[in-house]
Parts: sequence; C-alpha cells; structure tokens
Amino acid sequence: SKSRKRSEVLYQEALQHIVGGVNSPSRSFKAVGGGAPVFMKRAKGAYFWDEDGNQYIDYLAAYGPIITGHAHPHVTKAITAAAENGVLYGTPTELEITLANMLKEAIPSLDKVRFVNSGTEAVMTTIRVARAYTKRNKIIKFAGCYHGHSDLVLVAAGSGPSTLGIPDSAGIPTSIAHEVITVPFNNLNGLREALDKWGEDVAAVMVEPIVGNFGMVMPEPGFLEGLCQMTHENGSLVIYDEVITAFRFHYGSAQTYAGLDNHEAIQPDLTALGKIIGGGLPIGAYGGRKHIMEQVAPLGPAYQAGTMAGNPASISAGIACLEVLKGEGVYEEMERLTIKLTEGLKASADRNAIPLTINRIRGSFSAHFCDHPVTNYDEAQDTDGEAFAAFFRHMLDRGINLAPSKYEAWFLTTSHTEADIDATLAAAEESFKAMKQ
Ligand code: PMP
Repeated sequence: SKSRKRSEVLYQEALQHIVGGVNSPSRSFKAVGGGAPVFMKRAKGAYFWDEDGNQYIDYLAAYGPIITGHAHPHVTKAITAAAENGVLYGTPTELEITLANMLKEAIPSLDKVRFVNSGTEAVMTTIRVARAYTKRNKIIKFAGCYHGHSDLVLVAAGSGPSTLGIPDSAGIPTSIAHEVITVPFNNLNGLREALDKWGEDVAAVMVEPIVGNFGMVMPEPGFLEGLCQMTHENGSLVIYDEVITAFRFHYGSAQTYAGLDNHEAIQPDLTALGKIIGGGLPIGAYGGRKHIMEQVAPLGPAYQAGTMAGNPASISAGIACLEVLKGEGVYEEMERLTIKLTEGLKASADRNAIPLTINRIRGSFSAHFCDHPVTNYDEAQDTDGEAFAAFFRHMLDRGINLAPSKYEAWFLTTSHTEADIDATLAAAEESFKAMKQ
C-alpha cells in the first residue's frame, strides 16, 4: 500500500482554511469511509502523480471534462496561445462564433446559444428562459439526476447531495422547493401523474437524457419520446441537461446518439451544456430554439449575464478539445478499450463471487455492487456502498484513481492505452480477491 503522508498533512492544513478541506464536496472521501483525499500535484495524459510521488491511472477525468486526457498537447497549445493574447476581454471575440458554430453543427436543436461559466449556470438559466417563455413557474425533474447546485434543482437531487446523505440542501426556501416536482426516471406513468396534477403550472420538464449521475443509465426505449410528447402536449418545454453527455459518446450529444434511434421525436427545446465543451477550463452553455432563446437579454426580457462568460481561454480550450474529438476513430478506440475493461472487470468480479452490474455506454460506464439491473435512482441507491468503498480504497492503493462515490461513472479518455487497461484489470483482480477475504 502506498504512503500518502503528504496528502494527510496537506488535508489537515486545508481543513484550517477551506471548508471541509475541499472546494467541492464530491472530492471529499466522506462517502468512502472518510480521511484525507489524495492531493494531486501533476497530471499528464491518463496519469496523476500525488504529493508523495505516487502515480495513478485516472478514470475520474475531473468528473468528465478531461476526455482528451490531462494536458493534451493540442489543448495545452490553445490555452497557452490564449494566455499570451490576454485571457479576458469583456468584448465579443471571433472565437465565440467558432465554438458556437461547432456546437450548432453537432447539436441541431441549437438555433442560438449563449456561453456561461458552469453547468450550474447553464441549467439555472434554461429554467429562467423556460419560465419567461411559458409564463409558468413549476418544473418537473427526475429523481437522482443532478443539475448543479442552484436552488431549484437541488430539491431531492442525486449525485453529490445523495452521496452525502443530504437529499435536500439547507438554505432552500420551501416556497422554491414547492415549485419543483420530482418523478422517477424511466417511468412515464410518474410523469403523466405529475402533469395531470400540476400541468398548467409546469414551465418545463428537465432531464439528463442519458443519466450520468446515478451511474450511467440509458433511457428505456420510448421513454424520451413519451416524455417529449407529453411535455409538449402540455404546453411545457423539454430541457435536456447534456452537461455530461454532450460529446461524451460520439461527436454530438444524447439527442443525436445512435443508441437512441427516433431522433426527430426526442428533440428538446432547450439544452444545457458544460464540461467537455471547455476542454477543462470553466465553461457552460445553453441554447435552443430561436424564438425561445430570443427571450434572453439584450433581445428579450429574461436577464442573464457574466463577467467571465465566453472568455477567450475557455473558448479556445473548448475548440481545441472538440478538434481532438473530431479525429478519425477517436470514440471507437475509447469504446474498444472500455469494452475490454468492463468485460475484464465483470469476469474478475464473477471469479471472486462479487455481484457487479456494469452499465456501459461507449467510453464510459458505471459499476454498481449489486446483482440487479440499475435503470433508476432507487435501484442505484439499493447497491452496496460498503463494497464500493472497500473496492475504491483497494484500487487507490494499487494506483487506480476513481471518483469517491458509488454513483459516479468511470470515464476513459483518448489518452488511455491497452497497457493502462491491463494494469487496471490486474489491480481489480487483486482488489476483488482482497474484498472476498
Ligand atoms: N448537470 C449535470 C448533468 C452535471 O453532471 C453537472 C456536474 N456534475 C452539472 C449540471 C453542474 O455543472 P457544474 O459543476 O459545471 O456547475
């Protein structure tokens, strides 16, 4: 087992100055038995080096954005060039048009976009725009989907909050919580009921069209079609939160993913984006139908602004990242390695009599410790958190970095190699063996 003394020292120090020692609760080890998280010092390609000099193969990918691997030369070059030209102008730039066009080409439901600084901001603003357009107040969301930390969507949210066992955050007025209705994912009856009851007040139905926040979960056939149809019949807007899913599975988003065939019937009115489209620098974006987006200032009455929005550094990194992803066979290779990894993990778990349910979608997957399928949040919660915590720690000791939560996905990058997969499978075999004893 590796010594992580320096991480322990730094954690004690961080606790003196930074709340909980971390700048996002998902980085804390609270959900995997507590103690010091690993303080990383450097990252390159698929690897991390911590403050004690230990090397790790990374499957966190910073919760998604780092799909090219760390410090990818093409992205680094773009960021360096942007830094030399000045990182923040407060004026429009041509770069913003370039990235906006790239997004529109890949995601046809975007007539108009607006850049912001995070997924949270993007989601928050789609809700404002939907409310402005429909002149209604309520939103419907799905249990276990995570849409950032704004008041409205942190009501019975999943991911971070549920991992920490605080399904509702303190500090959200009940008057606001009452504007949100939460229904189960992959269950059209739940949505039907909610629309029957509150329909005339519902501005929008918000969903992760492919879920990334209680594992990777595909919508069942017909779910998104039914969702779009019911929502539109009700005069409400469909908002897709594609902060994780855009450019994750192919050069496009869930709304154009081949795994979901009836594309015409599953187009949203508004989409929230983030993560990959900034190549690792802070970014978010939202967009959608022209007449809806024209609600936004300076054209319309819905206000949204940002000092850092569309800054040349984030935009340049985003363009460079998408250029890498446009490369021939990039997604196919990530998928090939991920198939090898998931098949190996499953076989290894089976050999050691450890129940494991893997949901793989191209180059990302979730591995839940359970012997049932995971198609909704209830099923994801009903998995063995202690087994995950043990596995997580065994893997970390063997140089494999995963997210410290049983709900988070594993992300491969364009930098992972066959040798990384072999090393990961060897570590997993040892970890499962150790868990069995
Ligand atoms: N939506 C989804 C689907 C997400 O996964 C996340 C972040 N994990 C967000 C929104 C919030 O994005 P950010 O952390 O950039 O605010």
